[in-house]
Amino acid sequence: MTDFTMKTDADGVAIITWDVPGKSMNVLSIAALEQLIAHVEAALADDAVKGIVITSAKADFAGGMDLNVLARMREDAGDEPARGLFEGIMQMHKALRLIERAGMDDKNKGGKPIAAALPGTALGIGLEIPLACHRIFAADNPKAKIGLPEIMVGIFPGAGGTTRLVRKLGVMTASPFLLEGKLSDPQKARAAGIIDEVVDDPVAAAKAWVLGAGDADIVKPWDQKGYKLPGGAPYHPAGFMTFVGASAMVHGKTKGVYPAAKAMLSAVYEGAMVPFDTALKIEARWFTNVLMNPSSSAMIRSLFINKTALEKGANRPDAPDQTVKKVGVIGAGMMGAGIALVSAQAGIEVVLVDASQEAAERGKSYTADYMDKGIARKKATPEKKDAALARITATDDYQQLAGCDLIVEAVFEDPKVKAEVTAKVEAIVGPDCIFATNTSTLPITDLARASARPEKFIGIHFFSPVEKMALVEIIKGEQTGDAAVAKALDFVRQIRKTPIVVNDARFFYANRCIIPYINEGIRMVAEGVEPALIENAAKLVGMPLGPLQLVDETSIDLGVKIAKATRAAMGDAYPDGAVDEVLFWMADQGRLGRKSKSGFYAYDDKGKRQGLWDGLAGKYPVADTQPDLAEVQQRLLFAQVLEAVRAFEDGVLTDIREGDVGAILGWGFAPWSGGPFGWLDIIGAERAVEFTEVLTATHGDRFATPQLLRDMAAAGDSFYERFGDGAAMVQAA
Ligand code: NAD
Repeated sequence: MTDFTMKTDADGVAIITWDVPGKSMNVLSIAALEQLIAHVEAALADDAVKGIVITSAKADFAGGMDLNVLARMREDAGDEPARGLFEGIMQMHKALRLIERAGMDDKNKGGKPIAAALPGTALGIGLEIPLACHRIFAADNPKAKIGLPEIMVGIFPGAGGTTRLVRKLGVMTASPFLLEGKLSDPQKARAAGIIDEVVDDPVAAAKAWVLGAGDADIVKPWDQKGYKLPGGAPYHPAGFMTFVGASAMVHGKTKGVYPAAKAMLSAVYEGAMVPFDTALKIEARWFTNVLMNPSSSAMIRSLFINKTALEKGANRPDAPDQTVKKVGVIGAGMMGAGIALVSAQAGIEVVLVDASQEAAERGKSYTADYMDKGIARKKATPEKKDAALARITATDDYQQLAGCDLIVEAVFEDPKVKAEVTAKVEAIVGPDCIFATNTSTLPITDLARASARPEKFIGIHFFSPVEKMALVEIIKGEQTGDAAVAKALDFVRQIRKTPIVVNDARFFYANRCIIPYINEGIRMVAEGVEPALIENAAKLVGMPLGPLQLVDETSIDLGVKIAKATRAAMGDAYPDGAVDEVLFWMADQGRLGRKSKSGFYAYDDKGKRQGLWDGLAGKYPVADTQPDLAEVQQRLLFAQVLEAVRAFEDGVLTDIREGDVGAILGWGFAPWSGGPFGWLDIIGAERAVEFTEVLTATHGDRFATPQLLRDMAAAGDSFYERFGDGAAMVQAA
């Protein structure tokens, strides 16, 4: 396959064009890198060539590296995966250094200028290659994204991007781009100094520059004598302060559980004290270290490979295209308003229905307010706002739903109200219209009884706030048919979210796992565990919110409501009496969480969280003996993870990839672990069994070891070896 081609024009400029056949976006493979280098070498050797421009024939420059390349480097090295990775990375450094030095080391010939011309987006290796060139030109394309987002999937820019960006911008300025994976449009990337010029025609500008460039233009600052790192190197007083601050910031943000950020900072710090080529070697060592950490493969697998596979319809039934043209959203409250917003933004016509015209209009105004905020932050335009609003019809008239091909119902969480709405809607819409409910707790199969066509009835469970949360849980009732699943998946693709498809059971998947996490935290309060220990233990293991903060956010009265309903459904088997005692007592005190500005935390008048509420100790005194941090963490993690395993055993989850991606995107389950199944694979089934046995003996049967885990420990299996290709447990067992 030819990914790079080269043509030398009449002026003697060799234009190397990247155009991966059959793909809309260029992605780098090892074979392609070899082609690029062969072209560069040929151009440098050719006396007729005065300089080189590297560009793309597509609308964008490149989306990044094919991450499977890294896996292959490791696998190809057999028993010495670290060696395989390190040598592979050093090959990439050598290749990009060849571009950067551009023949300068050949005393007889001298160097040739090489410029990058970016028509659009340039991410990851797609920016690391330009950074090795002598000058970067980008088209004035506000839609283009420029940046190094590697940190978002648990690695860091390891083809010289880290070392070059720091040397180009200084540690302080490079920090947000490296440590947060911040992406910018070309104008902002130029203002930050990442790229050099924004022009109308980058290839023409790059060619002109190449033809006029002198020897001084092609020697990078870091290859010149007396180069000093902008902002100061580590031993310079200013640089020293930067590193102290950066180190604290990284630790504060990652809580020490994400290896990539820390390793990158080490590469930057150590690299800043040595010559450039040694810095590249140091970067390669730290990059190898990160890639050898199981966390990085788990994150790449869940947050990149599997997330993408699910978004592309890995579990979509074989049904014709079900793209949604007109959606009816019933209930213009908190959820309905958000669902209308994201649908309108995706270009779908929306009929937003509520019981009164006023309530429907209020729901529509959510889109107006949201777009106004976007305009203030320059993320939207008045035209976009108008277009979104024009797509939403707010009404109290159900007749307006005629012609909708999808309904999303988000009325009160009351089976009676939902049943009435279902019948009313079905009398108006056509027979092929799919009816989805956004219920968070009511079984889909039960709600479908109100429908005359249960095969067209499905759950589409959004998370709040709809416009922010990336996950959508699609729930199949007993009679839900393939067309409904396909419709739901096509809708989720249109609104650019990530779907998981699960079977119907109490609390579906995400809420089923998050409730035991919250409950375990509250249970510890009743036992006299220091609340700060509970909260910090959760954060130190990578949970975004401690269980007490989480229940404050979701509201304590909602917890009470769920507890009462669960107790009613389970009867004597209900296991959470100890939790309810605390929860009900809090509700009795009127401490309902953030919304009442009082909960497990104290809040100021404006609702800003202050610290843990010290009044809690009056009712639940802190015990003299406190558990170890590790024990608290194990309780909090296993509470969630065991529920995920049970959901898989029960067939609620049919694909562990969905279990992992759904956990990270749905409730923020320790992303560094790749998800609950990823975490179990990191610690190994055998150790997981040992932990659960100790936890069961100490804390009770809720930690009982699932049979599947025992079987896997006995067989020495991991989840991803056994079920990683999306195989359902029931089929594979
Ligand atoms: P909400 O109370 O904010 O909104 C419900 C809306 O439905 C109100 O505007 C109400 O006027 C309207 N409504 C009631 N009966 C109606 C009828 N017969 N016809 C038309 N409109 C009617 O509630 P919400 O938080 O948006 O929740 C809606 C649904 O979404 C519930 O099923 C809830 O369980 C589910 N859900 C909520 C969340 C959350 O975090 N709030 C998350 C996921 C799912």
